[in-house]
Amino acid sequence: MVKRNVDLRSDTVTKPTEAMRAAMAIAEVDDDVLGNDPLALKLETEMAKLMGKEAALFVPSGTMGNLISVLVHCDIRGSEVILGDNSHIHVYENGGIATIGGVHSRTVKNKDDGTMDIDLIEAAIRNPKGELFFPTTRLICLENTHANSGGKCLHVEYIDKVGELAKKHDLKLHIDGARIFNASIALGVSVDRLVQATDSVSVCLSKGLGAPVGSVIVGSKSFIAKAKRVRKTLGGGMRQIGILCAAALVAIKDNVPKLATDHQNAKLLASELNQINGLKVDPKSVETNIIFLEIEQDSKISAESLCKNLEEHGILLMQESSSRIRMVVHHQISASDVNYTINCIKQFVCGYPLQSGY
Ligand SMILES: *Cc1c(COP(=O)(O)O)cnc(C)c1O
Repeated sequence: MVKRNVDLRSDTVTKPTEAMRAAMAIAEVDDDVLGNDPLALKLETEMAKLMGKEAALFVPSGTMGNLISVLVHCDIRGSEVILGDNSHIHVYENGGIATIGGVHSRTVKNKDDGTMDIDLIEAAIRNPKGELFFPTTRLICLENTHANSGGKCLHVEYIDKVGELAKKHDLKLHIDGARIFNASIALGVSVDRLVQATDSVSVCLSKGLGAPVGSVIVGSKSFIAKAKRVRKTLGGGMRQIGILCAAALVAIKDNVPKLATDHQNAKLLASELNQINGLKVDPKSVETNIIFLEIEQDSKISAESLCKNLEEHGILLMQESSSRIRMVVHHQISASDVNYTINCIKQFVCGYPLQSGY
């Protein structure tokens, strides 16, 4: 029996497809720092159009995309950004906006659905007149889908309201849209409409879209012109990136349409696992491709023992704590992989024999 490889740790783990490798092999390239790489220009033009913004810029990672965006919007020292206390920028990006950008964070509690209460955002805004004691709020950041709440979608009505609030107070609005295409597909709202109220968006090409490297930030022409300078400052100006952009162009064309299937597979996984004694995952909480599996307190197994056992069967999960496991579905997880995973988990948790055919 060939050992299977079912990697559910993240949607960053996908490998470039044959089509991507073929496109990379024949990619025409030039120096992008000099502004001449044809496929970088093509990808940026296409992404700007898709997202309904004037311009776009390829960046090495989502972390750099967010950092550049915050630095451009908060280019006056003493600036403050309002963001979720459970947001990727605040939790997982090494505090870069503070350590590199000198930008102060003012967190507002993220609710279970990934939003922040709009009244609390408004109450957190401070110092439009530049008084002596306070940093000045210049930016609000949202995250869509919201990773730490399990890939929940922020609805267009909510984003529009935050956009109105930002305008009213003369602030900018940035969306960390690492998984914005997942949100767009799940909500059935075009991605340009979804981000209409924003000044900038950072989009990961290497999460659900499946490209090997890169993110894109989008915004106005003047935002992108400034972003290009900050990218160079951070060491993110790269040369023959057409190789990477070729793969990204294939990723957008081939894999955006597959996100709906990923979401179906995630929902199937969630509802089947929820029926296993000792495991809990609310299928209704799974809106896109992320699942948080809870091990109930009286269960005989632990998150660690489950992850270890599954690894022996070629299934990789992300252990988040002693009782919590994260699973992320992507285009290289098939319906058969999902069934295999369900069966292996049943076998370990309930002692069922592994069904034949796997
Ligand atoms: C992955 C991720 C990022 C950062 O992307 P990297 O390419 O890993 O730096 C930013 N925001 C969210 C919500 C993410 O999931």
